[in-house]
Formats: sequence, structure tokens, C-alpha cells
Amino acid sequence: MGSGIAVNAFGVSDQEWIDAVTAQLNRYQHTSNLFYSAPCAKLAQMLCEATGLKKVFYGNSGAEANECAIKAARKWAEQTKGPGHHTIITLKNSFHGRTITTLAATGQDVFHQQFTPLTEGFVYADTEKPESLAALAAEHNAAAIMFEAVQGEGGVLPLPADFVQAMKDVAAKENLLLIADEVQLGNGRSGAMYGYMNLGLEPDIVTTAKGLGGGLPIGVCMLGQRVADVFTPGDHGSTFGGNPAVCAGAISIFSRLTDELLAGVREKSKMIFDTLSAAEGVESVTGMGLMIGLKAKKPTKDVVAACREKGVLVLTAKDKVRLLPALNIPDDLLKEALTRIVAACAEA
Ligand SMILES: *Cc1c(COP(=O)(O)O)cnc(C)c1O
Repeated sequence: MGSGIAVNAFGVSDQEWIDAVTAQLNRYQHTSNLFYSAPCAKLAQMLCEATGLKKVFYGNSGAEANECAIKAARKWAEQTKGPGHHTIITLKNSFHGRTITTLAATGQDVFHQQFTPLTEGFVYADTEKPESLAALAAEHNAAAIMFEAVQGEGGVLPLPADFVQAMKDVAAKENLLLIADEVQLGNGRSGAMYGYMNLGLEPDIVTTAKGLGGGLPIGVCMLGQRVADVFTPGDHGSTFGGNPAVCAGAISIFSRLTDELLAGVREKSKMIFDTLSAAEGVESVTGMGLMIGLKAKKPTKDVVAACREKGVLVLTAKDKVRLLPALNIPDDLLKEALTRIVAACAEA
């Protein structure tokens, strides 16, 4: 019920993905980014058509995708707002990666300890105090607000509606970019193509990774109209980024995120919410689509151990049990897993 932390989008032994990657490996495995390859260009086109964003940068991880977003936001702000407008507002309890800069973007002290000094220029907004966002933006001459539609590592917490509204208002009023970190929730898991689409947001920059690669490393930073021309040749790059075999696999994943598949994700999500909410031993269920947080009455680690005993592997996020099943998990298998999870929560 973890799919390699939301990576194996269509489970293991996904023959379509295996065939796509293998076919590309038999053509050529790598070109460097000095040349376009067909898979890399085709994937970029699919991503832009699905989001309305304009340009795509390829890296090899979520952290790299976010590094690109941060560089783009800083350069945009310097060009359009002037020097000193480099601060990026991220959210308390967020998670954006483990490089020194994306750690700085991560609004959780536990990840910072012993790795300081981190990159400057990040401040953290409290999602429970939407009214504080405007002052924070003005005080720090901010460039952008970066958010997860559902905070994954932070405990599977969807953004409160009033905070979403505040982000829209403040971004418009203070001329800020909105950066959606869709590394975990993106590519169908939310029940929409991207989680921000469920919130009515129109971010300027969207990053994604994990599930898009289906099991091989990819990180993508998509740039919208306002930032599409920020980077000029030489500003940014990656040796492995846009690897054709990885992109061929990603095309196989992305092309299967049809309306029908997304409807299936929403149905499976409802099944999970309904079953777990009604279960004894369960305190709360949070999340979106197939990214679910379960707070049990007994300690999380005991639930995880009991699940493992019963042959179900689950993840955690802070004080929650976290479920990230494959997007196409068969209903009977999902039911069986839920029965065992419910039993694991109930036992004394
Ligand atoms: C996993 C994750 C990252 C980091 O991705 P890596 O591929 O591990 O670098 C960034 N943001 C979010 C929301 C994530 O869940």
C-alpha cells in the first residue's frame, strides 16, 4: 500500500511501462541534453498540454525539480521586481526535498538540525493563520509562495480552504509566483492530473517527480507563461535529465492517466475513506485521492507492525499511517488490504 513511496504508479510488473523502457533501451539509452530526443520532447508536449504550462525542465528527482523552481522564481523576481525580492514563502510543515536549498524550503525544523547553515531566503507561513500571509509577503519582499496541495510528509494534511484563498489573494496583490510542489500528489494520484487542479489554483510553476517515472528517476519543473522565458541557455541543466529511456517510461505512465483512470482513483479513494472512517480504532482519515493519512487510536508504529504481520506494508507520515497504493490497484485487492488494516487498528 505504498508503491515505493508513490513511485510505482501502476504497480510492479507493469508490462506497458517495461515494454516502453525496453524498446527505448534497444534504440539508444542516452544522448546528453545537448540534443533533443523524441521521448523527451514528446513527454514535454504531453505535460504542457495537460497543464497549460509552457516549458519543461528535466532533472532526476523531486528535490532537483524544486531547485529549478526556486532558481526560476529568483531570477524572475530579480528581473521583474528588482534585486532583494528573492524570498520564497513556503509553509510550515511542508516537505520539499533534502538538498541544502530544498531543506531550507522545507518548513520543519526536524529536517534542518545539524545541517545548518542552509540557503537563505525562505520564510514559513502558518496554514492555520491565512490572515498572516499578506504581512509576511510584504515584510520580506517575497518572490513566490510554494505549496503542496496536500502536505505529504507533514502528515497527509490538505491545505485549508481559507489558506488557499489567501494564497490566491496575496499572490495577485503582491505580484507573487505560485509554485505547486506536486512531487508526491501529482500525475493522477489526487484524482485529477495534479492536486492543485482540485483547489482551483493556477500556479506559475509546477514540479513533479515520483509517480511520473513509474520506477525510474525523473524530476520535472514546468514553467508557465510568466516565467517561460526566464532561463536562457547556460542558466540551468542536468547531465542525466531528460534521459530517453526514463522519458519513454514516463510517457507510458502519463498516457494512461485518462479520465476513466482518474474516475477510478476517485472511486477507490471513496472506498478507502468510507471503510476507514467507519472502522473502530480509527480516529481520523485525511488526504486526497490515493494519498491517505490514517490516525489510529493506538500508536502508529503498532499499527504499522500489525499490518506487516498481516502481510500489508503501509507507510507513515508524522503521527499518521500513510497509504499510497498504485493508481490501478484492483478493487478486490484494495478491499482485502483495507480489511487487514482495519483489523490491525482494532486489535488491543
Ligand atoms: C518526495 C518529495 C520531494 C523530494 O523528492 P526526491 O525525489 O526524494 O528528491 C519533494 N517534495 C515532495 C512533496 C515530496 O513528497
